Amino acid sequence: MVYTIIVKCESEYIKKSSVKTAGDFLVQKIFLGSEKMLMKICAKCGRKLPQGTKCICQNDRHKLYNAARRDKDKNQFYQSQSWRRLVAMVKARANGLDEYALSQGCLETGNTVHHIFTIDERPDLTLSLDNLIFLSAKNHNHIHKIYEKDAAEKILLQARLCEIVKGRGTQKSF
Ligand SMILES: [Zn+2]
Ligand SMILES: [Zn+2]
Repeated sequence: MVYTIIVKCESEYIKKSSVKTAGDFLVQKIFLGSEKMLMKICAKCGRKLPQGTKCICQNDRHKLYNAARRDKDKNQFYQSQSWRRLVAMVKARANGLDEYALSQGCLETGNTVHHIFTIDERPDLTLSLDNLIFLSAKNHNHIHKIYEKDAAEKILLQARLCEIVKGRGTQKSF
């Protein structure tokens, strides 16, 4: 058995020596078979890996996996009772109407609850009623297209949607 002893020095790992037994509590021991290599810690995920190599958390398959994992968590959230309860509240608050269309003087039936600030952006606002707006599928798509297209427009639109939600209830009836 060969242990490579690696001592952490500032930001670098420096190989000190090879020994046959473990035992020094000051050093970090990594068993590497007959190979001796310098190791580093991935800044993104904390995995130990050979210096000069790319961590698996940075490869496409892993990124994809993480994205799929997030989607799965999201799906579970959208199935949850707390979310369904919120949907019912937002729908009732909007009287079943698309609040964005209503702000433009149009009466359209809504069917979708939209997070003004997305769950990825502001996870803390996931369950906040002030962050939720009732929309038709058409306007929901329209809004998401703007979100994806242009960062500046997105910010303006989010501010506007917040205003609509805030002003709800004080809107004049037609
Ligand atoms: Zn990593
Ligand atoms: Zn949405």
